[in-house]
Amino acid sequence: MTDNNLIYETVILGSGPAGLTAAIYAGRSRCCPLVIHGHQPGGQLTTTTQIDNFPGFPQGIDGNELMENMRLQAERFGANFVTGNVTRVDLRERPFRIYVDDHAYRCLTLIVATGASPKLLGLGNEESLYGRGVSVCATCDGFFYRDKQVVVVGGGDTAMEEAVFLTRFASKVTVVHRRDSLRATPVLAERALSNRQVDFHWDSAVSEIIADASGVTGVRIKDVKSDEETELACDGVFIAIGHQPNTQLFEGQLEMDTEGYIQTRNGTETSMRGVMAAGDVQDPQFRQAVTAAGSGCMAAIQAERYLDDLPYDPNLSCQKGVCREAGKSEG
Ligand code: NAP
Repeated sequence: MTDNNLIYETVILGSGPAGLTAAIYAGRSRCCPLVIHGHQPGGQLTTTTQIDNFPGFPQGIDGNELMENMRLQAERFGANFVTGNVTRVDLRERPFRIYVDDHAYRCLTLIVATGASPKLLGLGNEESLYGRGVSVCATCDGFFYRDKQVVVVGGGDTAMEEAVFLTRFASKVTVVHRRDSLRATPVLAERALSNRQVDFHWDSAVSEIIADASGVTGVRIKDVKSDEETELACDGVFIAIGHQPNTQLFEGQLEMDTEGYIQTRNGTETSMRGVMAAGDVQDPQFRQAVTAAGSGCMAAIQAERYLDDLPYDPNLSCQKGVCREAGKSEG
């Protein structure tokens, strides 16, 4: 295990819009950020084709292109990037230690932007059909289903909100829910139940997503009480069965809510001084690229203020403005 003398002022975990916006701001503040990301950089936006609601792109922008642009912008201001699996994070000692494969990175501030993963149904082809009829975000993809038929899976607030939102585009929306009552809060449930464009299949599970070479053509629905199976033709399947914040690394070290979302206060501060959390990892409610980017900006500013308040330590190999060169020579 290597643990060289270099101490980064700011390490950012995650390269979605929260992490990359934090990297742009931290880089511009000369906090010399190091961004550590997994083998599929860019976060959830790279799984959707076109982003139409990120301000500044009147014609929309491809999710991968948006994330690549953010990365280039962060690199322009001196952000360094490392690819690898973070296996452990130790916040009990300062500097904090981040273990990536066989290397330990040390840092004075940490920005957690590890995002959340949509829960999936566990059907064989659902991930390979992303962008070809399977979606986990109606706000992102609903526009592409104008005058088409779609299925929404789930019975919570997200599913109801997505079902109603999709009626703006789709000719028919069918909600498939595994029970005979909704988990959604009454106001959102009522809004969906009273919408004549929304049909409900109760006590039902999607057992198969049917597709041809061009994408989704239908679903097979199983009645969970009778085991009877039927087919329903549709052009899109929106899976809205909840999200799982990617916070396992921080269990027992940062305060979280009952769902595992990191709790923040005063912007993006966590229960540990010097550790900020931004984006979906701390946001069960909005989960938009633009809100994630906004909180990434806040996290970088709060990290910088924290660094500014630290007493000068001549023994640190990284002080403001010099670790960028050291980081490069580290290779
Ligand atoms: P959620 O409340 O956990 O609901 C998930 C839904 O998916 C439940 O109906 C659940 O069924 C179903 N489900 C879970 N796993 C499933 C599986 N494997 N197969 C089929 N169905 C499955 O998640 P959410 O709707 O995303 O909401 C998350 C949080 O965000 C909630 O606190 C919610 O209130 C909040 N939220 C608020 C708003 C708003 O206020 N405007 C909007 C969206 C979300 P069961 O009911 O049988 O468990």
